[in-house]
Amino acid sequence: MPDLTDLTVHAAAGLLAKREVSSRELTQAALDRIAAVDDRVKAFVTVTGERALAQADAADKRLAAGERGPLLGVPVALKDVLSTAGVPTTCSSRMLEHFVPPYDATVVRRLAEAGAVSVGKTNMDEFAMGSSTENSAFFTTRNPWDLERVPGGSSGGSAAAVAAREATYALGSDTGGSIRQPAALCGVVGMKPTYGRVSRYGLVAFASSLDQIGPFTRDVRDCATVLNAISGHDPGDATSAPVDTPDFAAGIDAGARGLRVGVPREYMPPTLDAGVRRCIEDALRAFEAQGATVDLDLTLPSTEAALAVYYIIAPSEASANLARYDGVKYGFSWQRGESMWENMEETRGRGFGAEVKRRIMIGTYALSSGYYDAYYLKAQKVRTVIRREFDAAFERCDVIVSPVTPTPAFKIGEKADDPYAMYLNDVFTLPVNIAGLPGISVPAGFVDGLPVGLQIIGKPFDEATVLRAARAFEQTADWHMRAPALTA
Ligand code: GLN
Repeated sequence: MPDLTDLTVHAAAGLLAKREVSSRELTQAALDRIAAVDDRVKAFVTVTGERALAQADAADKRLAAGERGPLLGVPVALKDVLSTAGVPTTCSSRMLEHFVPPYDATVVRRLAEAGAVSVGKTNMDEFAMGSSTENSAFFTTRNPWDLERVPGGSSGGSAAAVAAREATYALGSDTGGSIRQPAALCGVVGMKPTYGRVSRYGLVAFASSLDQIGPFTRDVRDCATVLNAISGHDPGDATSAPVDTPDFAAGIDAGARGLRVGVPREYMPPTLDAGVRRCIEDALRAFEAQGATVDLDLTLPSTEAALAVYYIIAPSEASANLARYDGVKYGFSWQRGESMWENMEETRGRGFGAEVKRRIMIGTYALSSGYYDAYYLKAQKVRTVIRREFDAAFERCDVIVSPVTPTPAFKIGEKADDPYAMYLNDVFTLPVNIAGLPGISVPAGFVDGLPVGLQIIGKPFDEATVLRAARAFEQTADWHMRAPALTA
């Protein structure tokens, strides 16, 4: 019997289909693994053991009745920003510490219908604001490859859970890199779909024009399988695109022959970590060896402006979205003040952490009259320029390839007091959200025992080509099959 915690989704589904293993056994193995390692990794805010076993038994019944499905009976972990009916959804914030949603997010409902078994909710930077999971109000998640280092963020718990074999796959959200960056730093596959591909209904909003939900998996095929399950138009989300969902798994084995791979000069700056550069250059050689052409002369001139654009638009939207946490409708509520205003002030002062407050202040400032034109409006104009530069680049290539992060995982505490250094971690990922494009991180090697991710970016709604390129690359090495020793 193989190690049940080490399976891919398709391997697990294969064993379940042949009834060589039950969903209860798979689920119990995941729960045992969580019990064995999560006091060190700290990926989970809530473990829903009993619920998971009940869901597993229900899946086993469906399997016994002859039903088959790629996710039926397979354990998943959910970022704690996804609403789960009856299960706390905290966003790793004091503000929502005791909040239990009355309904499921659309993606959660879709997974439940597919027979997925949720083992729990994963830790994150508070309200998804951060790149290290250090901004969680509860605790910092650790990188399974080196427990002294960050797993990335904001979906650090989901990435760490998959890397540490605590769940077969996971869901996260990505506003500026929060799926791809932790996937890269934890050595797993992570994908941000095209804006509008996956419903945001029930995803606690950070920046509504940038947020997308996506999968963390052990390989590209699993990524396509999970994307199949969560994609599709949803009347509950006005921004979800009314487009058909192709079978993302269908064409992934077509190889890289003839593929035009573009590498923007701005994404390979001289400041790039030497080890990361080596991994990316190796990846480009692997693409060429497979018959792809590599164009190293692509240019996205406004890349440098993207960071500034993001840190106006995302906080502006956040300041509006987070206005709802006033202690009146739900969440933490301070009631001991002399007036309603004092109660609101205390609720927000005590309920939000420092980074969330920083974003609300930046956003409120950028949107205030007198500054709106200078900041928010200007950022929107540059956003259009960035999008057009990607459009122009995609006339010359089918996919854009780059590093995910400038360095491998950094030490816990290393950047915690320097927000700008932390923000710089996302230079290669957030332009993709600004332009609304699909992007994936695939394991591309190691530097001093720490994983490195390769980013592959595609045209809007062309996840199929991104996945095909990612799969072609993945097959040239076995990086994605390595598991952390989790010693120490
Ligand atoms: N690190 C970025 C930020 O702090 C992106 C976060 C995200 O994608 N949710 O805003």
